[in-house]
Amino acid sequence: YAKNQGRNNFQLYNPEVHSQKRENLIINELKQAVSKEELSLYFQPKITVKSMQAEEAEVLLRWNSEKLGMISPGEFIPIAEKNGLIVEISEYVLRSAFKQLKEWEDTEFPICCLAINISPVHFQYGNIYQMLVGLIEDYQVDPSKVELEITETSVMKNIDQAVQTLESLRELGFRIALDDFGTGLSSLNYLQQLPIDTLKIDRTFVNDLDQDTTKQAIVKTVIQLANHLGAKVTVEGVETKQQAHMLQLLHCDHLQGYYFYKPMPCRQLEKVCDGEKVH
Ligand code: C2E
Ligand code: CA
Ligand code: CA
Ligand code: CA
Repeated sequence: YAKNQGRNNFQLYNPEVHSQKRENLIINELKQAVSKEELSLYFQPKITVKSMQAEEAEVLLRWNSEKLGMISPGEFIPIAEKNGLIVEISEYVLRSAFKQLKEWEDTEFPICCLAINISPVHFQYGNIYQMLVGLIEDYQVDPSKVELEITETSVMKNIDQAVQTLESLRELGFRIALDDFGTGLSSLNYLQQLPIDTLKIDRTFVNDLDQDTTKQAIVKTVIQLANHLGAKVTVEGVETKQQAHMLQLLHCDHLQGYYFYKPMPCRQLEKVCDGEKVH
C-alpha cells in the first residue's frame, strides 16, 4: 500500500526493504544472543502410543531478545543459516541438551529421550560429527537417548556424503529421524537410501485427517512403508481428540502436538514425564 506522507509525497511500502531491515536487526541481535543468554530450550513431549505416556521430547529453541522481544525460530533460524551464525547456535542447543540429559542421568530422573533439530546448513558444512563426538566425551551421555532430526534439505545436495555421515552417527548410537516427511519433493527416492530410525509425518497430513479419507490413506500407507523399512513413525501437529484417536488406530508409534502438550520449559517437562498418563 502507499502511505500518504503529505502532499504529493507518497512512499511506497516495499516488503523487501522492510524485511531486509528487520533481517539486519535480527542478525545484529542474534550475534550476541548466545553470550547475552537470551536463548533457551523448550521441550515438546511426544506421546508413546503403546503406553500413552510422554517418554520423549523434542527440543525447540526460543529466543527472547532484549531489543526485539520474542522471535520465533521459524524466523530467526533461516536468517542464522544464511549468515553463518547457525553453527554457534546449533552448538549451544546441542550442548544445553546434553547438559540436561546428563543432569537427568545423575538424578536418576526417568526421562526422556530428546529429539534435536539439526540445521541442514550445519549438517552439510559444520562438521556435526566432530561436535557430537566432543559432546559425548564432555557429558558422557548415552547417544541412544538422542534422536537427531534432519530434513530432506540436509541430504539433497550430496546423498552419498549424507548417508555416510548418518551411518557414522548411528554407529555412535544416535537415532536419526527424517523430519517434515511428505513436504519435500522426492521423499520416496531418499527414503530408500537413508539409514533412518524414525519418520516424522508432517502436520499438513494431520489437519482434517478425521474427515479426509485421502489423507487417511496416505498416512496409513506411509506407516506401512516405514514399518517395512524398520522405522518408527511419529506424527506431529496433532491438535484434536479425533485426530489422536484415528492415529492410534492407524498404529503410529509416537504422537506430538498441541492436543497433548505445547512446547514447555524444562521444569514443566519434568513434571509431565514423571509417569503421568495422558488421555
Ligand atoms: P519443526 O522441527 O517442524 O518443529 C515443529 C513446530 O511445530 C514447532 O514450532 C512446534 O512448536 C510446532 N507445533 C507443535 N505441535 C503443533 C501443533 O499441534 N500445531 C501446530 N500448528 N504447530 C505445532 P517452533 O518451535 O516455532 O519451531 C519452528 C521450526 O524452527 C521447527 O520446525 C524447526 O525447523 C526450527 N527449529 C526450532 N528449534 C530449532 C533448533 O534448536 N535448531 C534448529 N536447527 N531448528 C530449530
Ligand atoms: Ca523437528
Ligand atoms: Ca517437523
Ligand atoms: Ca520444519
